[in-house]
Order: sequence, then C-alpha cells, then structure tokens
Amino acid sequence: MIKYDLIIVGAGSAGMTCAIAAAEKGKKILVVEKSERIGGTLHWTAGQMSAGGTRRQKARGIVDSPAQHYADVMRICENTAQPDLVQLATQLAPKTLDWLEDLGFPFAENTPTIVHGHEPYSIPRTVWGEDPLNAGVTTQRTGIHIYNCLLPLWEKYIAAGNIELFLNIKMTRLLVQNRSINGIRTKIGAFFAQKVVLTTGGYASNPAFFAKMTPKMTRLLSSAAPTSTGDGIFAAQNMGAKFKGSGYHLSTLGGIELEPQSGRADFGSAWALVSNVIVRKPREIYVNEQAKRFMDENEPSVDARERIVMKQPNQRFWVIFDEKSLSEGASLIPQWTAERIRTEAKAEKCIWKATTIAGLAKKIGLDATVLKETVDQFNKSVLQQKDNDWGRTYLEHSVTTAPFYALLTYAYSLISFGGLAVNRNLQVLDNQGNVIKGLYAAGEILGAAATSGNAFCGGMLLTPALSFGRYLGETINT
Ligand SMILES: Cc1cc2nc3c(=O)[nH]c(=O)nc-3n(C[C@H](O)[C@H](O)[C@H](O)COP(=O)(O)OP(=O)(O)OC[C@H]3O[C@@H](n4cnc5c(N)ncnc54)[C@H](O)[C@@H]3O)c2cc1C
Repeated sequence: MIKYDLIIVGAGSAGMTCAIAAAEKGKKILVVEKSERIGGTLHWTAGQMSAGGTRRQKARGIVDSPAQHYADVMRICENTAQPDLVQLATQLAPKTLDWLEDLGFPFAENTPTIVHGHEPYSIPRTVWGEDPLNAGVTTQRTGIHIYNCLLPLWEKYIAAGNIELFLNIKMTRLLVQNRSINGIRTKIGAFFAQKVVLTTGGYASNPAFFAKMTPKMTRLLSSAAPTSTGDGIFAAQNMGAKFKGSGYHLSTLGGIELEPQSGRADFGSAWALVSNVIVRKPREIYVNEQAKRFMDENEPSVDARERIVMKQPNQRFWVIFDEKSLSEGASLIPQWTAERIRTEAKAEKCIWKATTIAGLAKKIGLDATVLKETVDQFNKSVLQQKDNDWGRTYLEHSVTTAPFYALLTYAYSLISFGGLAVNRNLQVLDNQGNVIKGLYAAGEILGAAATSGNAFCGGMLLTPALSFGRYLGETINT
C-alpha cells in the first residue's frame, strides 16, 4: 500500500526544494500540485532573500553571520517571531543562497544590499535576481530566477523516477492510520507514504478565511498567488493541528486596485511607492476618507507608516499631487511613466484628475471643502517651510499646479501571517503542543509570524520557505 517515502503537497518554493533534496537522498517522492504548473508563488514573488554569512557577502567584504541576522530579525519584530524557527532559518539561509549561486542564480548587481522597503537590517544581506527596472527596490517578479535555477534539478529527478508529479490534482484531506498521518486523499484516489509534507502556501487569496482570522482589516486586497487559499492549513486543522500568528497581521503599503471591487492588486503590474522615503521622497500629500492628512508623509520608518495606515478607515488613502510633481523626478508608481499615469487618470478607475481641488474631491467622493482646506493648509506649510500639523520636514513641493491628481491606494496583502504551529524539526503540532506523527510543514503554511513576527523582516518568508523545504528533504527519516 505504501508506495512512496514522502508525499509533498504543493510544488512551490518549499515543495520544490523539499522534493529535490529528498530525491538527492535517493527517496521516492510523490508531489501533488493543484494547479496546472509547478512553481507556486515563485511566479509572483518579488524574490528578495536574506542571509548572513554568504559567500557573496564575503567576496564583497561584508562581515555578517547567522547570529547577526537572527539578532536583527528579533530586533525588528521585537521578539515576536518563534525563536527556534528564526534560529533554524538564519542558520540555513547562507547555505541556501550559496547553493542557488552554485545553480547559477543571476544576482542583481547591487546586491547584497540594505533594503528600505521594509524596516532595514543593519547589514547588507538582502539579494534578489536581476531586474531591468531596478532602482533600489524590486519592481518585478524576480522570483522567477529562483524557479529557473531549480527547474533543471527538478526535471533531472523526474526523469530519474525519484519524483512523480501529479498536476491539476488537489489534496482534499489527510489520511491517518495508527495515529500517524500516512497519506492524502485526492479526487483520483488515496495515496500513501511514510511521511507527508505540507507545502501548500498561505491563505492571502482566501477572503473568507482571511476575514475570519484578521478582523482588524476591513477587507482583503490581495496580491498573493491565487492558489494561496489555505488548503493545507484546513487539512491539518481537521487532524487537530494548531493554528497561530494571524493576530500579528501587517499589511504592505501602496496596493492599487486596478479593477475596482476586484479584491486584487497586482504587485507585478503596479504599486505605489508610498512606503519608502529613502528610495523616493514624497512630492505628494496623503488624505484619508475625511479628506484630511493623517501623517508626516516623509516618516522614515516603514513599520510606523504601515501601522498608521492600518488605523485609517478602510485602510486606504488617496495620494494627492499636481501636474508639476507628476512631471518631475522618480515616478510614484515605479512601473508606470508619468504619461501612463495621465492615461490611467482618464479611465478613472484608480487615478482621477481634475482642474480644481474641489472638482477632484467630487470625483473621488470626498468632502470638497475639507479637501480644499487640507491642500491650502499644506501649501501654506510649504511656503512657511514649517508643517504645524504633522511635523513634515520635507516641504519641497506644493500642490498648486493644475491639473490635480488623486491615486487611491490600500494597505494590501501579499502574504498571510497565521499558520500551522511546528517544532524545530518542522513537525506539525496539535493544540496541546504534541507532535502529529508523520506530518511536517514548511513555507508560508507556517505563517509569516513564525519567522518574521509582527513585522516585515526582509526575505524572511521566501528564504525560510526554500531553506526549510530543503532541510526537510535532507533530514526526514523514512
Ligand atoms: C507579490 C509577492 C511578493 C513577495 N515578495 C517576497 C519577498 O521579496 N521576500 C520574501 O521573503 N517573501 C516574499 N513573498 C512571500 C514568499 O514569496 C512566499 O511566502 C513563498 O514563496 C511561499 O512559498 P510556499 O512554498 O510556502 O508556497 P507557494 O510557493 O505558494 O506554493 C504552494 C503550492 O501549493 C499548491 N497547493 C495549494 N493547495 C494545494 C492542494 N490542496 N493540493 C495540491 N497543491 C496545493 C499551490 O498551487 C502552490 O503551487 C512575496 C509574495 C508575493 C505574493
């Protein structure tokens, strides 16, 4: 009855590395993937990975270590991540990146670097793949480079018969015998193995579950892979697994809902650079549903910015700017030129344009009198070079040259924070803290909070997903 050493559910970042590592050990593996292609979120992710003590760092004279990486993560998340998992992740991370380098990973020239899109590390340790648009932030889905590095190994082990792959087959539940997980159920039947590894990803494309687990968010605006629907979490919960970490949810800033009410923001196509004042200084003001400013738009802490926006009604705000600001300097939307922004404003889906501030307010449904007062007050602050309202010190641009624009942006979700509780061996735990025998998990199914706590620590989802998958493939005893 038991045909496989290992069943891996989900062929994304963690599932692919897990299968490859187990195949390298000579194991016989079944990989079940519900979509029509392998790769999962590798087709979507910005692909930023972080590690302390890599060959690439050493070659550039950067002194770093897993211990320093660990300390930085715990500093940024104020000790809210799971210490043993962060320790494991930071220990494995340099090996993962050196391995990718051996596989020919095309590092972006300027990496490792300190990334300012999240609360910054103290040492340059973040890398990603080449990105033609790169301007200090990843603006493309560079995770595809990781996929391309893994593919030859994947194909080698498929050809050798170590990995058997079922595409378009969804695991619907886990199977148990003698109180140990020993298989999975799918629409084409049941499959059995000595051990089962869940690498099905997160749930940031499941609005109902997200709403239940994240009541502080009014709605889910998602830029996650559409396959991230939490399937593995539900299957494990049916076996008594513990779920934790969703209370730590933090959203990313700058989500643009290109199609109103779609619930989707496509990070790969367009996002607003409103989180990071190191890469781009704000030439605009931000207003909430009351048509009022609510922060210093030049606030340097990404973490502080994210938390301020999450407190705004419906976690959204409009970026208000004028024609002069649009025509000068780096674009507010890195993927779009000023001309593209002008064109999109004609469609009036996410950007609006008007010759007066009152006209603009009418178009976006805000109180015209209040918006006019807000803009006038800000323009006065620029003239006086003093912002009495929010203490903004960067006051180079007023909002005075018609036409005027409003871009609607949301706090949006690329990832999910909650996930399955596991021990340091990545064995899934039940609500009493006991190991569920035979069941392992890696990747975003553990939740961002496991390795990043209540904050965004650069690269601390993708790197652990790749590392933990590989670690399980190497260490699982079958
Ligand atoms: C736009 C974006 C940008 C990001 N940028 C970064 C970044 O720069 N740095 C970082 O650290 N993290 C980033 N992340 C997060 C990170 O990329 C992911 O957390 C990670 O890739 C998830 O890997 P995974 O293997 O857990 O899941 P996935 O790669 O999503 O793989 C899960 C696989 O399981 C399959 N599956 C699901 N359910 C079933 C089922 N029932 N049966 C069979 N198969 C199933 C899915 O189809 C999928 O192929 C980003 C995410 C997004 C969306």
